[in-house]
Amino acid sequence: MLPGSFVQRKRTCGRPNCHCADGKNLHSQFQISVLVEGKPKVFNIPAKLVEQVRRQVEMRRRFDAAAATICGINLRRLLKQKEDQ
Ligand SMILES: [Zn+2]
Repeated sequence: MLPGSFVQRKRTCGRPNCHCADGKNLHSQFQISVLVEGKPKVFNIPAKLVEQVRRQVEMRRRFDAAAATICGINLRRLLKQKEDQ
């Protein structure tokens, strides 16, 4: 898993002869936005790691969702146990 969120940005590279110079066919820049020691940081992701990072960030999202579901079930269970006493 990886923390934070996966970000896709569009940008120009600055080369005047590049296809991106028209401002329409921009390059994709992938980044991960995370809190490091409480401070927001953004790191660029190289193309060959993009799919891996995307998967790992998604895995964290599903893990958090599953944890929230389990906590909700356990809270209802606790409240039921209290009533039954
Ligand atoms: Zn370019």
